[in-house]
Amino acid sequence: MTVAWLRSVFLDRSSKSEVLYECRHCGKGVNDRTDACPSCGHTGIATYELG
Ligand SMILES: [Zn+2]
Repeated sequence: MTVAWLRSVFLDRSSKSEVLYECRHCGKGVNDRTDACPSCGHTGIATYELG
């Protein structure tokens, strides 16, 4: 998990519930639902429900 990235997201959107996605391979964070990492193409995407 990329803590710095998550922190930046929290600072931007503090109040509403969010679902975030992160590549399990390279750690790329994605805001929209995706089946494959836009950075490395890996299909293992972790889902984080926040808020
Ligand atoms: Zn990736």
